[in-house]
Amino acid sequence: MSSLHIVTATPALLADDRSRAAYSEGAGIYRILPRAVAVPGSVAELTALVRWAADTRTPLVPRGAGSGMAGGNVGRGVIVDLSQGFHALTVDPARRLARAGASVTWAEINAAARGLGLRLPPDPSSGAFATSGGMVSTNAAGPRSLRYGSVRQWIESLEIVDASGEPRTVHRGGGAGPWHPAPDTRHLVDGHFPRTRKNSSGYALDAFAESGDELDLLIGSEGTLAFITQIEWRLEPILPDVAGVALGFGELEALSDAVPYLLALNPSAVELLDRTILSFVEEAGVALPAGLACLLLVEFERETAMAARGVVGDAVRGLKHLTAHVETAVDRPGLERLWKVRTLASPALARLSETRRSLQVIEDGCVPIERLGEYVAGVRGAADRCGVQVVLFGHAGDGHVHVNTLPDVTRPGWEDGVSALFDAVTALQVRLGGTPSGEHGDGRLRAGLLERVFGAQVMALFRQVKRAYDPGEVLNPGVILPAADWAPLVDLKVGAAATPIADDIAARLRQLERTASWATPKTSLADSPGT
Ligand SMILES: Cc1cc2nc3c(=O)[nH]c(=O)nc-3n(C[C@H](O)[C@H](O)[C@H](O)COP(=O)(O)OP(=O)(O)OC[C@H]3O[C@@H](n4cnc5c(N)ncnc54)[C@H](O)[C@@H]3O)c2cc1C
Repeated sequence: MSSLHIVTATPALLADDRSRAAYSEGAGIYRILPRAVAVPGSVAELTALVRWAADTRTPLVPRGAGSGMAGGNVGRGVIVDLSQGFHALTVDPARRLARAGASVTWAEINAAARGLGLRLPPDPSSGAFATSGGMVSTNAAGPRSLRYGSVRQWIESLEIVDASGEPRTVHRGGGAGPWHPAPDTRHLVDGHFPRTRKNSSGYALDAFAESGDELDLLIGSEGTLAFITQIEWRLEPILPDVAGVALGFGELEALSDAVPYLLALNPSAVELLDRTILSFVEEAGVALPAGLACLLLVEFERETAMAARGVVGDAVRGLKHLTAHVETAVDRPGLERLWKVRTLASPALARLSETRRSLQVIEDGCVPIERLGEYVAGVRGAADRCGVQVVLFGHAGDGHVHVNTLPDVTRPGWEDGVSALFDAVTALQVRLGGTPSGEHGDGRLRAGLLERVFGAQVMALFRQVKRAYDPGEVLNPGVILPAADWAPLVDLKVGAAATPIADDIAARLRQLERTASWATPKTSLADSPGT
């Protein structure tokens, strides 16, 4: 007699120490040794793996390039690397759609679409390596999200493998899926969700309430509800003309007037760099005028060159009384030169010395745009009080600022200052009606903050969503919903308490971080030196 429930065979796993070490870190602050690693090459292999995990209650950690900052791509379960086996990509210019496997990067999509005059408008700075699966799972965004929103708006359908190992397709307009909220849920969500221009924290109950589509729950779910194997991206025509301006200010407070003025001119990006990060960029060889407190990089896309140049002129004239430095660009190559300062920012931080590490702890806060000045001043004040140096940069036009801490990790007790700052900045975000994550997601880092941000009732809804999709808690446990022993500043990749791994792999992981080479297949890091 045959059984209806066949226990699946153990899948091929890499369980040796070197492979586990190669996947113990992503971008961000953690080093956690996984139990093993799997690199499925097809939906069939992934399906078999997930069925085995469901049968054996083995936690799985979905993973793309590993460039996510919040620790959703590392964990003690089996890491499932989807960056290598899902590379199919087709572009349909007539329907303005790209169909991309989970491993396909933003850069690959745009390279295929560009010749057809099309693009995927949200532009994560990590586009060279961020995978389609990773972007969907974090609801990624970029400088141009100011005008085009996060990736959420650009997803037509997802092919997923659910927590029981069943593959299926989820379409925009396809309905609610397995979670059926109570009728009063909308009211609760409306009252408790941040009113920010961007949010990648929690499950997107606000977008779900609006659309009734489970697609909106899956987008930004950080590998906790399903594996994503294929994405249908909506594309749009590239606007022909672009111009921009770099505006330097002597005081950070000028942002309170300058940013709303610029937003009224309908820019496609307004990016901020503060004086600390400017000093690192200068060390990397970019000449800037002395005495700037911050720089705003502004981009305007228009239908004609005249319109693009005209609006740059409006911006320069309108902010003349506030600016200490102005440099304009009237075409795309000029703009790229102007933006070099922005593209050098993250690598400059990653290259800091081993004693002064750039750590992404309070790194992704977003507040209502009218509270931006208060937020920036509040973060600076809290950092001074906690004795932690910080750099600020990011998407000022969205009220969204990346803040990296720069502690001396060789100084005993450095974690106390960072921990106090984490707490103070979270309180500030909550007070200002903000979110702890504008685009990177909660991961393990922020999971334990969500009750403070959304309140106990919304937290209960998040748990309902998780139970509806993953009752066995196989998919990325501890991400979005915190583990019972949540402790955000343990399992760090820096400091004396870091879990030991082979020196050569630790050095390769560090090099990968310093050079932003996240596209490197991580299996290759496990190769012995010289092979
Ligand atoms: C230098 C640098 C700059 C960055 N700039 C930006 C930026 O401008 N905007 C931005 O939004 N982010 C940025 N990031 C963060 C990061 O690149 C994005 O979060 C990106 O979307 C992550 O993609 P990934 O393929 O690396 O995913 P990973 O880091 O591997 O995973 C991220 C999360 O998604 C889940 N996941 C990944 N793939 C799948 C899948 N196929 N199915 C289910 N779950 C999955 C993981 O479990 C994890 O929780 C930056 C990072 C770096 C290092």
